[in-house]
Amino acid sequence: MLADKDRIFTNVYGFQPWNIDAAIKRGDWDNTKGLMALGQDALIDAVKASGLRGRGGAGFPTGTKWSFMPKEPKADRPNFLVINADESEPGSCKDREIIRHDPHKLIEGALIAGFAMRARAAYIYIRGEYIREAEVLFAAIAEAYDKGLIGKNACASGYDFDVFCHRGAGAYICGEETAMLESLEGKKGQPRLKPPFPAGAGLYGCPTTVNNVESIAVVPTILRRSPEWFASFGAENNRGTKLFQISGHVNKPCVVEEAMSITFRELIETHCGGIRGGWDNLLAVIPGGSSVPLVPAAEIMDCPMDFDGLKKVGSGLGTAAIIVMDKSTDIVRAISRLSYFYKHESCGQCTPCREGTGWMWRVMERMRTGDADISEIDTLYQVTKQVEGHTICALGDAAAWPIQGLIKHFRPEMERRITEKRGGGLSPMMEAAE
Ligand code: SF4
Repeated sequence: MLADKDRIFTNVYGFQPWNIDAAIKRGDWDNTKGLMALGQDALIDAVKASGLRGRGGAGFPTGTKWSFMPKEPKADRPNFLVINADESEPGSCKDREIIRHDPHKLIEGALIAGFAMRARAAYIYIRGEYIREAEVLFAAIAEAYDKGLIGKNACASGYDFDVFCHRGAGAYICGEETAMLESLEGKKGQPRLKPPFPAGAGLYGCPTTVNNVESIAVVPTILRRSPEWFASFGAENNRGTKLFQISGHVNKPCVVEEAMSITFRELIETHCGGIRGGWDNLLAVIPGGSSVPLVPAAEIMDCPMDFDGLKKVGSGLGTAAIIVMDKSTDIVRAISRLSYFYKHESCGQCTPCREGTGWMWRVMERMRTGDADISEIDTLYQVTKQVEGHTICALGDAAAWPIQGLIKHFRPEMERRITEKRGGGLSPMMEAAE
């Protein structure tokens, strides 16, 4: 179990005020000027050495991402940092805890990260439904301006850096980095084709890096406590601490900071009071937010909760939004509901996603009620394969993977429903063949 002294987010439950005086008492904004004096390249090297990988889902090494930004930005094409606070993945609820209870970690992180990649400003794109969180964030940004911590000559460092907060309007797809840039520019939030990548042509056509809230908020503490300290947690290639968000059928759902690579069993036993009804009652887990494939109970129990461990069991860490399902769950219905979500959130630009998500949901609904033919399970699987990897953005994959996970692990349950619906009789296709 992670010791309290090793927690980065010391006010994640809001037991103390979020305001700047309380934040300073917790250690935020402590000698930020001194950290910036290390120099831009040294800051990027330190983040690389810490092993920090993006906390928004993809897990790309954060320091490496920063190093893609131009070292000598042109006057008419400044560098920008965009912070993704859209947090719309079903199951994810960690960034809101950072923003509403510890916003100065994020704002200080924005300054340091923005300085390291020679950015002129940071835009924090916050999910539209996070109304109270946005209020806190606007107020915290105003506090930081008042104290001279951001803005002209930020922290008396000689560096000018602005932080803007932009509220989204409620579209899941705006969490995709290029759709977010479109939305920030005032356009419809639809993903862009890549290349060009944002580091080459991002916000307003300028070099841009998009990072998740947690990836940015941990940076000041990593620099203060040393990259080696951060890298001392977790397995090789999966370093650091992480905010896990556990929901569903556990006794005490929670958001908790833990060391990466903790096993699922230890995480649930230590922080969630175990599985509802005991471990024998566990059915399956969606370990990284709704877009990753589910993992059946037997495979997840002793799995390390990190990028590589979950990849080995055919899923992913994603945002570490862990949805636990016990044996009372109608697993086909649960996945069908996710299919509806992706159908609803498709931006409609590409045919496999626009048509495929609706088609998959309609078939999933028939799978739920058993009004299908057993051969359609294979057809459904083939369609998910035709959607996966054939779209502009990853929403197509996100819609396909939960269904693939269901078919892989719960095919007998799908077949049982179809057979029972017919009272064990022949399917229409088999009857026709008779
Ligand atoms: Fe839009 Fe879906 Fe294509 Fe992404 S995959 S660009 S959400 S249609």
